[in-house]
Amino acid sequence: MFIHEKESYCPYCGEIISFLIDPSIEFQEYVEDCQICCSPIVVCVEINSDNKISIQTRKENE
Ligand SMILES: [Zn+2]
Repeated sequence: MFIHEKESYCPYCGEIISFLIDPSIEFQEYVEDCQICCSPIVVCVEINSDNKISIQTRKENE
């Protein structure tokens, strides 16, 4: 199993932060606190058929 590091931005403070992605799970959604402003970021990760990782971040309750 390989853990991928993927960068996205915080929807609260706009800072670029890196997330650790487990690519063996095709679709996952979880909440991770921002490393900068400590706000709860909802992280949506999708693994495409060609093993590309697509990551989206949004605010909680949005
Ligand atoms: Zn932040």
